[in-house]
Amino acid sequence: MGVYVHIPFCARKCFYCDFHSLEVRDAHRFAHLVDSYLAALRREALYFRSIWGDKPIESLFIGGGTPSLLPADKLASFISFLRTELPFAAAPEITMEANPHSLSEEGMEVLTGAGVNRVSLGAQAFQDGLLRAIGRLHRAEQIGESVHLLRRAGVSSINLDLIFGLPGQSLVHWRESLEQALALEPDHLSCYALTVEPGTLLHAWQEAGVLQLPGEDEQADMYDLTRTMLPEAGYEHYEISNFSRPGHRCRHNLLYWHNRPYIGLGSGAAGYVHGCRYSNRADLDGYIKSWEKGEPSYEEFQELNPEQQMDETMMLGMRLLEGVAEEEFRRRFGVSYWDVYREAITELIGQGLVEEVQGYLRTTELGLLLENRVSAAFLR
Ligand code: SF4
Repeated sequence: MGVYVHIPFCARKCFYCDFHSLEVRDAHRFAHLVDSYLAALRREALYFRSIWGDKPIESLFIGGGTPSLLPADKLASFISFLRTELPFAAAPEITMEANPHSLSEEGMEVLTGAGVNRVSLGAQAFQDGLLRAIGRLHRAEQIGESVHLLRRAGVSSINLDLIFGLPGQSLVHWRESLEQALALEPDHLSCYALTVEPGTLLHAWQEAGVLQLPGEDEQADMYDLTRTMLPEAGYEHYEISNFSRPGHRCRHNLLYWHNRPYIGLGSGAAGYVHGCRYSNRADLDGYIKSWEKGEPSYEEFQELNPEQQMDETMMLGMRLLEGVAEEEFRRRFGVSYWDVYREAITELIGQGLVEEVQGYLRTTELGLLLENRVSAAFLR
């Protein structure tokens, strides 16, 4: 069980990003907004306290947006509030997303004091030209400085996010980014393929025919290189896009892939509580106003039936390299996945996309590359 908190503020919108976040332009208005937003988050947390029960919460993930833009003392006191008001386990994983241009050592020390023990740093690439091409505000050299700062501040687990398939990026650039990331010895690496989302600047450029992206083969080579270099350097490939040193898998993200419940707090946040999936409206002012009246403001709210819960468990679980445990599935739903998906599984095995090994159904090497096809097969 976990808690996700969405912090929808960024210093500037990156050209590829379709996450719910607002550019911070006016410091005075930002300070006021932060106070109102944190007050609304507190109200939403208290609302969930009454319906969540006492199931222990093992992880807190503060994502965004750019949580490291918030004044550290305010964020720290909000984390302490959550840990007091919700039934947190004794040693929860507490992750905060951060950008290299918005970190201070003093601020990080305040946050580690409040329990932040994992930071996910948006590194993305190690070439200034590529960073500029996607609208990132940091320079490559700030990534290393940030990692050292986080270590000095006592953060015990550091993730670097990297993106491949960027405009103008070559396989040589990608190799260089992986090498430079590895030289910093992070505990975890998330390596995502760029997707051009509608509504972003990159999408507008693509529509106008002026966006130069690496071709599909080159992107596949980048992913192959990732899957070779990182395990050779001692990182376990445990999810399609995620690699960790022993003992540093992201416990919070594992909740999602195991299709476990979590509370989502904040404007635009999604949650999964008592079999209901919900998402809050991605409207900052509307969110604050709703909680001033003590009311949730859902964009979507859906109670999942057992069939939907099974489908989601399979679709999410197949993202993990270990796959889905037959015994765990049976314990949870009272039937084997063979009873429910025999036809689909047989077909996927025939296509060489999945295999069953020691009680786990998992994707093959080929299935990893065609993960969308594997997932789609479990959607009834
Ligand atoms: S910093 Fe992150 S959340 Fe903010 S605009 Fe860039 S990618 Fe999006």
